[in-house]
Amino acid sequence: MIVMKFGGTSVGSAQRIREVARIVTDTARDQEVVVVTSAMSKVTDLLVAAAAHAASRSTSEMSQVLSELRAMHTQAAEDLGAPLEPINERLDQLEHILASVSALGETTPRAIDLIISHGERLSIHLLSAAIAAAGPLAEPVEANELIVTTAHYGDARPLLNETRQRTLRRLGPVMQSGAVPVVTGFIGATPEGFITTLGRGGSDYTATILGHALDAEAVWIWTDVDGVMTADPRIVPDARTIDALTFTEAAELSYFGAKVLHPLTIVPAALKGIPVFIKNTFNPTATGTKVSADDRPQVMQTISSMKNLALITVQGRGMIGVPGVAAKVFTAIAAERINVLFISQASSEYNISLVVHRADAASAVRVLRRAFATELADQDIEDVVSEDGVAIVAVVGEGMRGRPGVAGTTFAALGDAEVNILAIAQGSSERNISLVVDESDVALAVQAIHAQFYPANKVNQT
Ligand code: ADP
Ligand code: ASP
Ligand code: MG
Repeated sequence: MIVMKFGGTSVGSAQRIREVARIVTDTARDQEVVVVTSAMSKVTDLLVAAAAHAASRSTSEMSQVLSELRAMHTQAAEDLGAPLEPINERLDQLEHILASVSALGETTPRAIDLIISHGERLSIHLLSAAIAAAGPLAEPVEANELIVTTAHYGDARPLLNETRQRTLRRLGPVMQSGAVPVVTGFIGATPEGFITTLGRGGSDYTATILGHALDAEAVWIWTDVDGVMTADPRIVPDARTIDALTFTEAAELSYFGAKVLHPLTIVPAALKGIPVFIKNTFNPTATGTKVSADDRPQVMQTISSMKNLALITVQGRGMIGVPGVAAKVFTAIAAERINVLFISQASSEYNISLVVHRADAASAVRVLRRAFATELADQDIEDVVSEDGVAIVAVVGEGMRGRPGVAGTTFAALGDAEVNILAIAQGSSERNISLVVDESDVALAVQAIHAQFYPANKVNQT
């Protein structure tokens, strides 16, 4: 049994959906398949905008977005000969929910998740109809019936045991009847049944969560590039496709911003050693990338980047030689459920720097000032400061373990390109080096490092 996930651009139009149905049908001839689909491309963004319009009572903008969504989905349904009824029903429900939010004039994370769940809950009907037209039986399934999650709306985590039980119970009979389940990516539900989402780009995660639940032989992530590449091809046009990655490498590079995989995708697959293949629906015969437990060190390094971050620094001479400062920093931050992406402590112990999402910067500074109120008053700590507009650039690769040259190459590249490095951290795993740079330097930094590792590539200064 394999799980096949298709991203937004892969189901972006009736024609693309027909192409995906052909890929599914070809595979379903010799093995059991569970399909996971994203919303049509741009739809989740439109739903996010609709929720914001509703909350601010911008009714005409809200109606405009609704009409756009209606036109897109009914057009695709007509082109595919898909039944209009479930699509219209779903759109009518969406309209009611948006009207309620607009009446209240405010929204909640739970309401936003309910609204943005509609993209996938529409696209499953289009893809199911296209698969059925191509041959096999297909049944649309909403993943709130399968994936049980925590109540962290917008960023929910699966409860794997409960999810496994529900998934087997719900999908077992569908598969026994010979039908292909076509499941919504991105969404789940709390144990009480409230719809949650797994974070933007979460359909990849849905695929491995279901792969874990069903003990799949493999998970195939179908997207719009040939696989995982040595850098984001939008930043480095001549980035190369990587044939094979270990679970750890793939987890680290997605965690540090390689958008091709949701940051947590690899976790459920690695737990059960299920290989994940990344393939291109626009070029289905290309081999793609295999992510597996294979520990063969790769010579390839991948360069990824993440923006919209802030660098928080706690500094002061009174910190030198005083035990427990770092512990206090992390306890305060963790109590606030703020995600820390990067940590660095100067060997002088004069400061500790951490990187958080920009949206969390103000609360990080607030909780740290509170935690260190006494030290600040005594001037043992001079200040807690936040620098917005920073980015992390990460170099990831199993091959750098025990190979001294990688850090040198990275710094030489940035020196030549005159990129200023604000902070440095090397993962203790020695599989990654991450650097904090000014956001305006990101493209140049990624290009310069990539060109240094893959010398055929020239730095493309923009
Ligand atoms: P999907 O809708 O299929 O989930 P995404 O847009 O989420 O697709 O992810 C695929 C995109 O990720 C690619 O089009 C590419 O622009 C971007 N990307 C960023 N970093 C990488 C990388 N290292 N390798 C491949 N693609 C990357
Ligand atoms: N549709 C969701 C998003 O745009 C999930 C996904 O595409 O993976 O974030
Ligand atoms: Mg994606």
